[in-house]
Amino acid sequence: MMRNIVAGNWKSNKSINEARNWMSEMGEAMDNLPKNVRIMVAVPAPYLAALAKEKHPRILIASQQVSATGYGAFTGEFTADMLVSCGVDYALVGHSERRSNFGESDEIVSDKLKQCLESDLGIVLCCGEHLNERDADRQEEVIKSQLESALHGVTADDMKNIIVAYEPIWAIGTGRTATADQAAEMHTFIRRWISEKFDLHTAENTSVLYGGSCKPSNAKELFASKDVDGGLIGGASLNSGDFQSLICSFT
Ligand code: PEP
Repeated sequence: MMRNIVAGNWKSNKSINEARNWMSEMGEAMDNLPKNVRIMVAVPAPYLAALAKEKHPRILIASQQVSATGYGAFTGEFTADMLVSCGVDYALVGHSERRSNFGESDEIVSDKLKQCLESDLGIVLCCGEHLNERDADRQEEVIKSQLESALHGVTADDMKNIIVAYEPIWAIGTGRTATADQAAEMHTFIRRWISEKFDLHTAENTSVLYGGSCKPSNAKELFASKDVDGGLIGGASLNSGDFQSLICSFT
């Protein structure tokens, strides 16, 4: 499995027309983009079904959200099964904006992840520490606890459907990026944790992405670390030209 991935997260941005323009700009550029990287974008839920049909086949499409439950009386929720039936490939689970602003506890994150696994929907599992935790040098402890909780009961085979995104919360949307050394250190820690929980083969085949103010000007340096397999990109994914530069940071 190719570990390199550049994944965009548009958050709550773009009209459907802007979304379609982005997709066609990407389609036109595709032949010139490196082949050694998987390309993904997490788009607003109302556009998923349409864009999943229209997108270039190389682009993986992700939902920013997924229900922690299956079918039933859960107004406003959409299940992992529904996403799969609309041609969606992945769902973001545990993004810090969902955890902080929408009360997503570790338990909910774990439930969502299980729903995705049952429906065979790929998962981008996000984890990250707050600034006060980083300042207290507690980042490893925080990430370990988030991973232990989210991946409780998950098998090595399930890990084929899981991508991990390390996103220090103090770096998301703040313009303050982790240094390449800080990212490298945490990614190595995460891969070692995966190896200890599962096995070396699983650790070596799991993509671990960096997220937090990653942009064309810093991506090359961040992606150069052996355990950094690419990025989950918010702000810099909105412009297709910037996104293409990020994809080209692997060459
Ligand atoms: C994100 O949304 O996961 C993210 C990393 O955002 P940004 O790149 O804008 O910091």
